Amino acid sequence: MTSPTPVVLVRGDITEQSVDAIVNAANSSLLGGGGVDGAIHRKGGPEILADCRRLRASHYGKGLPTGEAVATTAGRLDAQWVIHTVGPVWRRDEDRSALLASCYRESLRVAGELGARTVSFPAISTGIYGWPLDDGARIAVRTVRQAAAAPVEEVRFVLFDETAYKAFEEALATT
Ligand code: ADP
Repeated sequence: MTSPTPVVLVRGDITEQSVDAIVNAANSSLLGGGGVDGAIHRKGGPEILADCRRLRASHYGKGLPTGEAVATTAGRLDAQWVIHTVGPVWRRDEDRSALLASCYRESLRVAGELGARTVSFPAISTGIYGWPLDDGARIAVRTVRQAAAAPVEEVRFVLFDETAYKAFEEALATT
């Protein structure tokens, strides 16, 4: 039997991580935005955007669909790849949990295909997209526990503030 992939929590800025792959909470345009997306493009430099533009000109003419994931260079970040995924916008009147789970699962699938051993995730959809943090943390932890497999050896959730860190700590302890 294989042992489960370790899941680690870090309080900090995802752009400061040294890992094989950094997951970006992108929007479907792939052309940048606020929050994690803005920070990754600012710090990673123009090579990431150039790759994203190439993706828009080829496979993703209409943009990257919600719940899917695609990799680019990591530019100047201390990583080999950025894996862009588009989280769902939270809606009170519609359960979009499956799409949020898909972001984590698809990002890990892409990471595995690339041969990434260490992967950092932000708390997808819990910023500008309005997903309640506790629920977002439970979905993230549950999905990663189910989906993480070789060659990925460590999944790191990088939480920007104490509230997010606590939500993930709770989810890890109870999920
Ligand atoms: P979304 O549009 O998917 O909601 P955001 O980037 O707005 O994505 O936010 C996702 C989460 O990432 C939020 O919890 C936000 O506080 C956090 N966040 C924002 N900037 C960073 C950063 N540089 N590193 C790690 N987490 C960040």
